[in-house]
Amino acid sequence: MLEQDLISTVIRPEIRALTAYKVADATGYIKLDAMENPYTWPEEIKAEWLKVIHKAEINRYPDPEARSLCNVLKEYNQLPEQSGILLGNGSDEIIQLLLMSLPANSTVMAPEPSFVMYKQIAQCLGLKYQGLPLLAESFELDLELTLAAIKQQQPEIIFIAYPNNPTGNLFDSHAIEQIIQHSKGLVIIDEAYAPFTDASFIAKLSTYNNLLVMRTVSKLGLAGLRLGFIAGQPGIISELNKARLPYNINILTQCSTEFVLTHPEMFAQQTEILRNERARMFLQLSTIHGIRPYPSAANFILFRTEQNKATPIFNALKEQGILIKNLSPQQGPLSDCLRVTIGKPEENNAFIKALKNAKNAMP
Ligand SMILES: *Cc1c(COP(=O)(O)O)cnc(C)c1O
Repeated sequence: MLEQDLISTVIRPEIRALTAYKVADATGYIKLDAMENPYTWPEEIKAEWLKVIHKAEINRYPDPEARSLCNVLKEYNQLPEQSGILLGNGSDEIIQLLLMSLPANSTVMAPEPSFVMYKQIAQCLGLKYQGLPLLAESFELDLELTLAAIKQQQPEIIFIAYPNNPTGNLFDSHAIEQIIQHSKGLVIIDEAYAPFTDASFIAKLSTYNNLLVMRTVSKLGLAGLRLGFIAGQPGIISELNKARLPYNINILTQCSTEFVLTHPEMFAQQTEILRNERARMFLQLSTIHGIRPYPSAANFILFRTEQNKATPIFNALKEQGILIKNLSPQQGPLSDCLRVTIGKPEENNAFIKALKNAKNAMP
C-alpha cells in the first residue's frame, strides 16, 4: 500500500488537516519568545534539590494521585478547602483531558485571539469549535456577542485565559461572571499567568459549580517540569480523574515541584522583578515611534508595528540575536503584531536597543 493511502486509512481527516505545533529553534538567541522565567535558582537551593532527587525511587512508579504534591499546590495557590484538584503533564494535558471527556459532537468555545491549544485540541478530537472574536483594539470580551453565541449554541465548555495570551489583558471580571452565569456547560478560567497578576477566580470556585480554574507552574519558572492543575467541584474533578492516565505526573516532577514550592520567597522575588521590568518595558516601548504596546498583566507584552513592518522587524531582531514571537502571520486582529516575553533587565535592554536599531534601519 502507498504510504499516502495507508495514512488516509488509519488517520482521521481532522488530524490530517492540522499542522503540528511549531516551536522555533532558539539555540544561540536571547530567548524572549515563550513566556519562560529567565531566572534559575541560587546554588544552595539547587544543592538541596539534588538531595531530594537523589532520594527519589526512580525504579518505582510514582504516586498515581500525587497526593502530597496536591496538598502543597492547594496551599500555595490558596484553594478553598473543599475544592477538588487534578494534575496534568502541563495544563495542555488538562485541556486535552477536559475535551476528551465531553460527549461526541460537543461545542467548545474560546475568545479569539487566545491560546491556540483550545482550538487545536478540539479540532484534533473532532469537536465543534466556535471562536468568540474579541473587540478590536481593546481586546476586551464582546459580551453581547458571547452571550448570544452561548444562548444559541449551548457550548459544553468555554475556555477563558485570564490574563489572555497573546494579548496580555485581563478581561472584565463582571463580563466573565455573566458568561459563567449564562452558561449551562463548564467555564474554564485558565490562569497560566497567575504569578504576574493579583486577579483570580479562585475565590469564586465556591460560588459557581460550573466554574473550574486551571493553573500551571510553567510561567512561574518550572516550564521544564511540565505540571499544571485544575481545581473545582470535587464531583466533576473525580469524573475527569477517571479519564486521566494513572502515572501522568512523573516522580521527578512530583518531588521537584513539591520541594521548590517550599521556597515561595524565591519565586516572589523573581516575579516581583519581572513585574517591575514589565512596567519599564511598556514605558520604553511607548516612546518608540510607530510602536504601540498593549497593557499586560502577564510576563509578556504584545505590540503593534506600522503596517507590514512586523515581519521585517522580527527578522531584524533575529539578526541581532534576539528571538521574540511573530504573531503577524496569524492575520486578522494580530496583523502587524509581535509579542515579547519579559526577560532579565539586561536582556530587555538588549531587546529595546535592537528594536530601535531595526526601526532606524527601515525606510
Ligand atoms: C502557556 C500557557 C499554557 C500552557 O501551560 P503548560 O502548563 O506549560 O502546558 C496554558 N494556557 C495558557 C493561556 C498559556 O499561555
